[in-house]
Amino acid sequence: MAIQKAEGIVLRRRSQGETSKIITFYTREFGKLSLMAKGSRGIHSKYLGTLETYNHLSIVFYQKDQRQLQYLSQASIVRSFATFSTQLAKFSLASIPCEVVEKAEIDNHPHPQLYHLLLDTLTAIDEHHSGLRNIVRAFILQYAVHSGFEPELDRCHHCSRPDPADLNFFFLTDGYYICGRCTSGDVQSRRISGYGVQLLRWLIKCPVGSAVDAQVSAAMGSELDLLLFDYLKTHFESLTVIHSYDQLLKLSAEFAPNKSNPQ
Ligand SMILES: [Zn+2]
Repeated sequence: MAIQKAEGIVLRRRSQGETSKIITFYTREFGKLSLMAKGSRGIHSKYLGTLETYNHLSIVFYQKDQRQLQYLSQASIVRSFATFSTQLAKFSLASIPCEVVEKAEIDNHPHPQLYHLLLDTLTAIDEHHSGLRNIVRAFILQYAVHSGFEPELDRCHHCSRPDPADLNFFFLTDGYYICGRCTSGDVQSRRISGYGVQLLRWLIKCPVGSAVDAQVSAAMGSELDLLLFDYLKTHFESLTVIHSYDQLLKLSAEFAPNKSNPQ
């Protein structure tokens, strides 16, 4: 039996029997990893307050090859994102990258760059006060890059001109756009303005925390969100339903009149 150490983010918790939980982490060392946390449901548990959703933890577990589910032995908090427990809008936004990783990544397949992208995304949502949806937009684009589905945004796929037209057409399946000088689009394509293309180019490359600086109107934001989430759904079989995104849309509709939701 080997003792393993890892750093990870709590993606999901499920009750197991009367006293235990199965915790799914996204770790730097092992990728997605589910562990049994025995006795973690009691009020006297040594894990009390530690295994909270989206906490960034340092963990130790026992690796026994003949056992399918390994047992957690120790967990300590590296960082808990304090605002997630007090601000529903931030918690909802943080749920999106975590659900994407939880559903689309396979077990025991480490991807340290993706781990850091997820951690940077949660940190940025915790630390910033406005422009938070741009952080999630940047995450989605950069997640696509890390997963081998980078869209071609630096030029029109047809005429290769780097400057987009006022109106352009993005093709979800092919992952490129054709400018309005070359086509008038078809039913498969999504309309996107020249500014929209410029925004996507910025968001796909910027440090996720800097994404908050992009100026995005509510209408433009909705257009980008629809395009980005449909892009994920087109290319990832496991992401045809993203509950956290649907939840966010409901929340946005609820809070729209007083504009208190982050754009
Ligand atoms: Zn063109």
